Amino acid sequence: MYCQVIVDIAHENVAKPFTYAVPAGMDLAPGTRVAVPFGPREKEGVVLALTESADFDPKKIRQVSRALEDYPAILPPLLDLAREMADRAHCPLAETLRLMLPAEMRGGRVRAKTVETAELAVSRGEAAEAALQEKRSPKRRRILELLAEESPRTVADIGREVREPREALRALRDRGLIRLTEEETLRTPGAEIRLDNSQWHALTAEQQEVLEEILPALERGDGRFLLHGVTGSGKTEVFLNAVRRTLENGKSAIILVPEIALTPQMVSWFRARFGPVAAVLHSRLSAGERYDEWRRIRRGEARVVIGARSAVFAPAEHLGLIVVDEEHESTYFSDHHPRYDAREVAESRCGREGASLILASATPSILSFARARRGDCMLLEMPRRVADRPMPEVAVVDMRQELESGNRSVLSRELVRELSECLGRGEQAMLLINRRGYHSFVSCRMCGYVVKCSDCDVSMTCHVPEDGDPGKNARLRCHYCGRSAPIPERCPECGSPYIRYFGAGTQKVEAEIRRLFPETVTARMDIDTTGGKDGHARILEEFRSGRARVLIGTQMIAKGLDFPQVTLVGVIAADLTLNLPDYRSRERTFQLLTQVAGRAGRGKRPGKVVIQTYRPEDPVIALAARQDYRAFFEAEFQRRRISLYPPFTILARVLIESPGEAEAEQAAQEMERRIRETLADRPEWRKKVLLMSTEAPGIRFLRGMNRRQILFKLLTGKDTEDFCGYLTEEAETPRDGVQACFEYNPVSMI
Ligand code: ADP
Ligand code: ZN
Ligand code: ZN
Repeated sequence: MYCQVIVDIAHENVAKPFTYAVPAGMDLAPGTRVAVPFGPREKEGVVLALTESADFDPKKIRQVSRALEDYPAILPPLLDLAREMADRAHCPLAETLRLMLPAEMRGGRVRAKTVETAELAVSRGEAAEAALQEKRSPKRRRILELLAEESPRTVADIGREVREPREALRALRDRGLIRLTEEETLRTPGAEIRLDNSQWHALTAEQQEVLEEILPALERGDGRFLLHGVTGSGKTEVFLNAVRRTLENGKSAIILVPEIALTPQMVSWFRARFGPVAAVLHSRLSAGERYDEWRRIRRGEARVVIGARSAVFAPAEHLGLIVVDEEHESTYFSDHHPRYDAREVAESRCGREGASLILASATPSILSFARARRGDCMLLEMPRRVADRPMPEVAVVDMRQELESGNRSVLSRELVRELSECLGRGEQAMLLINRRGYHSFVSCRMCGYVVKCSDCDVSMTCHVPEDGDPGKNARLRCHYCGRSAPIPERCPECGSPYIRYFGAGTQKVEAEIRRLFPETVTARMDIDTTGGKDGHARILEEFRSGRARVLIGTQMIAKGLDFPQVTLVGVIAADLTLNLPDYRSRERTFQLLTQVAGRAGRGKRPGKVVIQTYRPEDPVIALAARQDYRAFFEAEFQRRRISLYPPFTILARVLIESPGEAEAEQAAQEMERRIRETLADRPEWRKKVLLMSTEAPGIRFLRGMNRRQILFKLLTGKDTEDFCGYLTEEAETPRDGVQACFEYNPVSMI
């Protein structure tokens, strides 16, 4: 017997499989991880296939050293998925296979956790007797006494009474007095999460109708759905019911959420209804926890997986359902190599494994809604909130008028008034400002110089240490590379002392609220406050418990959170996202505003939303204020059709980076020339190219690298895919001192 093995080598991608002989008696199946000799060393690999014969000299074939697990770590459909992804991304299979395993399984960096216990092998009386005989070793005597009182006991427990008991334990075992056993235990994350909402609600008519479409598809093992339900329409209850049926059918389900911050809430709902059969999988778990959850899923002990995008690769067998909640979120794209879109992966898995797919959102992506309208998937709508709760009332405040009437604060008078009423009634408020830090930039009043990062072409943000004094302890930070610098006392350009601060971030808004409402406890949620394993959960719990009354945060707080006590939502600067130079900035702004507005009035009391903006006349702001998704979609869809943006075309680029500016420029020009030559020979590709131009991107240098891009606008089609494959290879051809990569519809074009 022989097997084909993809060898996993760090930093180096060996694209093709190698043939190894399978020693007699070794039980291997496709997907099993193995150790194999590779050159002078031993490497890990994954078995792709088993064959009866080898196509070259059997004497030269080396043997598999051993199997790393006694089961295939990669299930057959996931092996196929890895192949398909490698084909589509034009990357080596070893890279996509890595996505299917918890990182720490590679190189054996994580082990199963075990608990050692000691148990008497003789009667209690005999043990007590033996203890009396034990004159030479007080340790052995004490252990026997302890076990005579209570047996079995864990070794850790004994260790609390007897220091370093191991040697004594072994001696007692060798004399046949006790038995030592080792048993595996699983580290289960999220045990501290409070279980909410444990009762099944009586479904609303809309939830009922939607489920009547979904449940038969679950029986058949097919169906693609886009569930468009307004904020607070009770989409989660639909998922819970669909998962219940999936479990009853003996199948498993995966629920994807766009941010780790949203996992505790989802886990709490699912554990409350289904118990420990619900597992969590995301990158903030400790290595041991992730490994154990992964194994719980692989063994079928956990059949509901909740997690961020990488959970789409969970080893769930007999998959019946994948739900992608808040499907419009760009976090479903992975920008790391190999790049993937979790929604596409989910669709591919569902097709291959006979499962149903539900994409859900209050503000579906333009792409998904367009597909649903075309009939590629079934549109399900829930236009009303549960229990006849009204949509929140939205007021748009013109910040230019605030300035004119002398209010220079980041908070409008209307928002302050609403806040004090809301807090006066004992309710909660959320404030969104999509920028972290204290001030967004620092500039000289005399010459206009803006302090920029020395390694990146971006202005530095002013941060104050938590509980620091903004006057004294502030420092500048680069949000791209993390570099930190003191605030200059004089302008480095003209020497003037008139250094001023501009633009507010989350820290400034929090300081402002504390100044205006000194009695009120606030919580802040942004990248700076959510570090560590439980950063998110801690802040959200502070707010959920009611201890904190105002939650200030970046877009993190806009998504999917359900806090019934929140009756006021304030958007500090609605224009921030609208001003970004990206064809999606209108879509993102509409989604962000509608989503954050949807956090208000989810409980029994109605909600109010205040949107502050310098552009109240902008149609996107007006449509978001009305929360009119349909009207927004129609307008945006037309705009994209006319301006030839996705989904009508594909935007792609080759991004070129080099420490030297001249090198970056030269490499870009050479590459453009070669691509044009190729296009001259390939008319079928040329026909697909609407635009091709070489330029410096919005950020000209980043992390010390000078950047250039070759931008493409392409028509869709099979030839385009081939052309993109060629561009990938062209970009990845090694060059001295220059890095390049090809990006297909990138999430960010900076
Ligand atoms: P969405 O995700 O659509 O914004 P959620 O699923 O978070 O909405 O539901 C909003 C709130 O309504 C939750 O607190 C949920 O428990 C509650 N809810 C959902 N369905 C029902 C129902 N049928 N009856 C009563 N309350 C419900
Ligand atoms: Zn100056
Ligand atoms: Zn920087």
